[in-house]
Formats: sequence, C-alpha cells, structure tokens
Amino acid sequence: MKRMEAAIQNLRASGGRITNARRSVLQALVTARTHVTAEDLLNIVQSESPEIHLSTVYRTLDALEKLGVVDHVHLGHGRAVYHLSDNAHQHIVCDKCSSVEEVPSELFLQLEKDLKDKYRFKVRMNHFAVIGTCSQCLEKLDKSELN
Ligand SMILES: [Zn+2]
Ligand SMILES: [Zn+2]
Ligand SMILES: [Zn+2]
Repeated sequence: MKRMEAAIQNLRASGGRITNARRSVLQALVTARTHVTAEDLLNIVQSESPEIHLSTVYRTLDALEKLGVVDHVHLGHGRAVYHLSDNAHQHIVCDKCSSVEEVPSELFLQLEKDLKDKYRFKVRMNHFAVIGTCSQCLEKLDKSELN
C-alpha cells in the first residue's frame, strides 16, 4: 500500500476526520521524504493550496500528533522536525557534519528496560536524537591524527 493511503487509513482508524488541511499536510510529509520543519511543510503545502497558512499547518500537525499519525523530533539545537509515525525509529545525528541517520528503535530496548527497572523512569527515546560523530567524520579525524 502506498504511504499516503496508509497514512489516511491510520488517521481514520484513530477516529480522526479527514480535512483538506490534514490531507495536504500528510501529502507534504510523504513528498518531503526527509525530516522537515513546519515551515518546510508550509512551502510544500502552499504550492498546491496557497490558502493554507502556517498557523493551520501547526494546528494540523498538533492534531495529527495527538491522533498518532505524525511525530516530531528534535535533531539538535534547531526547530522540531516532523515525520509520519508509520515506522518507529531513532535518529543519530552527527554534530560535525549534521548528517542524520535513522536507526531501529529496538537498538535502545535494553537502555529503556534498564532505566525502567533501575530508576522507574519511562524514557521516550525518540523525542530527541542521539548526538555524536558519524563514521565518515570519525574516519577523517583518524586520518588527521595520523598526519
Ligand atoms: Zn518536542
Ligand atoms: Zn525520522
Ligand atoms: Zn559527520
């Protein structure tokens, strides 16, 4: 099934109404493919529906998040970015070259379990990215250390 159809079906299943704005925002998220800010989404939405304004995009994203169809994440110091919540994943972000990679959420299961068991803390790992140095930047660092 196509991603857009799946998202609409998801929305229906959560009891959400299908409005024009919701359809446009979902379509923009599918079109964007990567992680986009509300402003990025507005640009995509407005190319088809110029009557939709930023406040509507924010309100729509908010509603779609509550319905569990859309998720946002903070990749660094910048604004929140949005994505469809159809495949659970975590983000690893390089603070040297700003590359973003998606990794399976299962990688963090043990950490989640330990925090819950030992600290009675229920962590929401995927609200923030994990920051570090990517393999390419590590390679460059290794080389420069040799010189
Ligand atoms: Zn947030
Ligand atoms: Zn993502
Ligand atoms: Zn990097």
